[in-house]
Amino acid sequence: MASNFKAPRGTFDVLPEAAPVRRRIDRTAQRILEAAGYGRIDTPAFEDTDLFARGVGESTDIVQKQMFTFEDQGGRSLTLRPEATASVCRAYLEHGMQKLAQPVKLWTAGPYFRHERPQAGRYRQFTQIDAEAIGSDSPLVDAEMILLAHDVIAELGVEGVLLRLGSLGSPAARTAYLDELRAYLRSREGELSDDVRARIDANPLRAFDADHEGTRRVMDEAPTLLERLDQPDAEHFDEVRHLLDRSGVAYHLDPTLVRGLDYYTRTVFEFECEHLGAQSGIGGGGRYDGLIEQLGGPATPGCGWALGVDRIAIALEPPGGPREGEAEEREGVFVVAEPEDRQAALALVTELRREGLAADLDLADRAIKGQMKQADRVGARHALILSGAGPGTLRNMDTGEERQIDPAKAVAEIAGS
Ligand code: AMP
Repeated sequence: MASNFKAPRGTFDVLPEAAPVRRRIDRTAQRILEAAGYGRIDTPAFEDTDLFARGVGESTDIVQKQMFTFEDQGGRSLTLRPEATASVCRAYLEHGMQKLAQPVKLWTAGPYFRHERPQAGRYRQFTQIDAEAIGSDSPLVDAEMILLAHDVIAELGVEGVLLRLGSLGSPAARTAYLDELRAYLRSREGELSDDVRARIDANPLRAFDADHEGTRRVMDEAPTLLERLDQPDAEHFDEVRHLLDRSGVAYHLDPTLVRGLDYYTRTVFEFECEHLGAQSGIGGGGRYDGLIEQLGGPATPGCGWALGVDRIAIALEPPGGPREGEAEEREGVFVVAEPEDRQAALALVTELRREGLAADLDLADRAIKGQMKQADRVGARHALILSGAGPGTLRNMDTGEERQIDPAKAVAEIAGS
């Protein structure tokens, strides 16, 4: 009988058969990022609520609607991390990393939590791989970051990927632009959706994201921030684009790209996968030159991204089973023994495992025939059938070929074969 308990809404179990693709995503990211000088950091799964309120932005959907916030027994307000950047910046300040050579390049991976409406590809607990470079405003950092995310995605073999690129400018230009945009939206208020109209003051940029038809028409004619960048920002963005052009990474210039987090300045980008339906974003990021100051530190530029592991896994392994080459082959030995040879079987398996081999044995009192079936089921390449103190039999499970083997020498022989 199935129990009455289910994984909480918006969460899921990663079963062993789903592990190989996720492991490959992790290892690929680790290899590419560490080769580029990014050091691994792990921060707590929860932080002071204020860190996200200040870091992610009070007016964002994340802070207003999506945080899993709770009070601990000491009355402190804590929040399960909805994203990585604020935590990594907090750690940068807390550990005095501004004294190190800049930029400090860090990466992390793990679970994140947002109380969103669950649907395919959108969960309340999801996994991200995240990279941050803190302490340099050079356009090289932006370009390097984008290239690294691109390379992780390309190396994994995700198909149908589009890179959208934009710039949000500096805070001053953005403020002036936002005023202009608010005035424009007010001048056509009657055509906007209720939702957008209610947030003209708080977050007018979100209007570009709206699906509402009237709003879309208004936004088609709206001024864009890209047209209003001041000169240093425009030059910075040009340089990022030149660097990307030189590297041969294709991108789509998107003057209306807005991201769901407030802290971005200058470069922003998003990777989409056209095979994924509504939740097509597989990663995104950008520059956040004001964030560290907002958290109480000295003015320090930064740039980062997060890749969505769950969505990348879906893109690589659509429902219906792994793509060719994604399933991991199990090799190794299954030791088959009568009940009186159990101790010898466990000792042998232990020794084989210590030699670094995959070795297994029956743990459910099966008869010899059942043990052979189990050897087959677990995909063992060999079965080693013990027979008291006498010689054992090593059976190749693929070919059926058998040969005698001295159990005392079995470890050396199998390890060497
Ligand atoms: P963000 O931190 O919002 O920029 O998201 C970066 C990436 O994380 C997105 O492109 C998604 O791939 C992934 N992601 C964000 N939110 C979720 C979610 N609720 N469920 C699954 N993946 C998500």
